[in-house]
Amino acid sequence: MFRFLALVATAAVALTGCVASAAPTAEIPAPTQPSPPTDPTPSITPTPTAVVAVFDTTLHSLDEADSLWVVVDKLRRLSPKRYAPTDLTTMNVPHTYTPILRRDAAKAYRTMYRAARRDGIDLVVQSSYRSYSAQVSVYNGWVDSIGREAADLQSARPGYSEHQIGLSVDIAAANRACTIQACFGTTPEGKWLKSNAPQFGWHLRYPRGKTAITGYIYEPWHWRFVGVELAAELSLTPKITLEEFFGLPAAPDYAR
Ligand SMILES: [Zn+2]
Repeated sequence: MFRFLALVATAAVALTGCVASAAPTAEIPAPTQPSPPTDPTPSITPTPTAVVAVFDTTLHSLDEADSLWVVVDKLRRLSPKRYAPTDLTTMNVPHTYTPILRRDAAKAYRTMYRAARRDGIDLVVQSSYRSYSAQVSVYNGWVDSIGREAADLQSARPGYSEHQIGLSVDIAAANRACTIQACFGTTPEGKWLKSNAPQFGWHLRYPRGKTAITGYIYEPWHWRFVGVELAAELSLTPKITLEEFFGLPAAPDYAR
């Protein structure tokens, strides 16, 4: 996945100064200052070879609905808007609602779930794949309870949801502390995810302080599967968003 470009800096050849001292003549006294020592063999000083790893950001489409890297936000509606993945699978893991993800994401979640358990952390799938029609119900439910403007900050309109691509999961703690709340980030489960989820291919999609870019409040529970290579690359920059990483426009709100 990485394309390594060996940037071999050309060895800089530095010739030490060879000062040819003028032959003294009878009329001109020999210089009193000593000549710098001469070096009969020019020395070559090689600069270190720099190897720079360049991440290939074109490896997967950002637009195709079934792409591992598809970026869905308030300005990037899924196409088609009723898209449904063809490789959805139900996971046998603790959950609130039936845990369904695309095959590779499901595999990565199960692996992460087991690793968390070994560390004494019990994760629960709160919500995972949601179809277009399910998102209609979820979004309308939010609008009914808190109004459209507030609903838009925490629930996507149908066709604009990361949950519809089958690569996103909302994770809760087994003791249900701070479920779907910002304080989830301070729970042992939230902290464990922050430290460990990237190595299993998961990215914190809605970091704190990035609402103006993502269009959503801080969601320490919402993890997006992007594959281990991209997740590792993203984890090098704290709180980076997919929009920033790929140079996409900020999407604070829907187009009018
Ligand atoms: Zn979510």
